[in-house]
Amino acid sequence: AKADGRSTHRFFESQMDSEQRERRLIEADLRGAIARNELVLHYQPLVSATDGLPTGFEALVRWNHPTRGLVPPAEFIAIAEQSDLIVDIGDWTINAACMAAAAWPAHLTVAVNLSARHFRRSDIGRVVQSALGNSGLAPSRLEIEITEGLLIENPDEVIEKLGEIRALGVTIAMDDFGTGYSSLSYLLKFPFDKIKIDRSFVEASTSDPIARDILRAIASMAKTLKLKITAEGVETAEQARFLSEIACHQLQGFYFARPLTPADLPAYLLSTIRP
Ligand code: C2E
Ligand code: CA
Ligand code: CA
Ligand code: CA
Repeated sequence: AKADGRSTHRFFESQMDSEQRERRLIEADLRGAIARNELVLHYQPLVSATDGLPTGFEALVRWNHPTRGLVPPAEFIAIAEQSDLIVDIGDWTINAACMAAAAWPAHLTVAVNLSARHFRRSDIGRVVQSALGNSGLAPSRLEIEITEGLLIENPDEVIEKLGEIRALGVTIAMDDFGTGYSSLSYLLKFPFDKIKIDRSFVEASTSDPIARDILRAIASMAKTLKLKITAEGVETAEQARFLSEIACHQLQGFYFARPLTPADLPAYLLSTIRP
């Protein structure tokens, strides 16, 4: 039994080692990824709830790794956040998204996800301003999506930085609304322009009448507070119908379109031109 215990211990130890080794490998590869042009943005349409036509796109980062293939953000953003790598990735993302959007028809917006770490470690106001300047994108066409995790530490500093960006004319959206502990208190602390209802509520709305009641309540609160409201993760016609009935402004999800590669964009845009 003693020998068994020891080998179990060794097993866990070596498993931990290999996870750490894997993380370090990813981190080392990631250091050169921007210079090697391996990061790419895919763009998922946000559509108007009234006519289903796109109002803009959310930029979603992927890492085109030479041997691992297309790596989703869940597998490298958290690793990047443990060092200043997240600052380089964030700067690259904002710039690349603004550059891309500047070439789209002028009614279309681009939404960029900001990591809390990037936000805190950089002069984000200047980064946004220079991305807008370099690309020539109108500030009103840029949206910044932040999760409430951002507001937990140093809320005053974060609020000041958000205010700077908002003063440029950029839209600020609270992402994954409803998943945190204090979504409502953050609405009190900072003047968001928009909330994005988390996919978990949309998913539950299909089978759970309470989820539908909560969504109705969120929609009516958003109306009172004059906040725009987007629902993410819309996968069925039924969900889309319900969400537009309760007056969500925008919908996003696989039912309308998956994230598109830059190569897919022109055809999508052509097929969705407003009459
Ligand atoms: P998010 O901001 O909540 O983005 C939405 C995620 O849900 C995306 O996954 C998208 O592909 C997926 N999705 C969209 N519609 C549907 C649907 O109908 N059903 C289902 N099941 N999923 C749907 P993705 O691209 O893997 O991104 C995951 C997360 O990674 C994002 O969640 C965001 O938090 C983060 N992320 C993505 N791009 C960036 C970035 O450039 N910077 C930072 N810091 N984080 C990013
Ligand atoms: Ca987002
Ligand atoms: Ca989201
Ligand atoms: Ca989400």
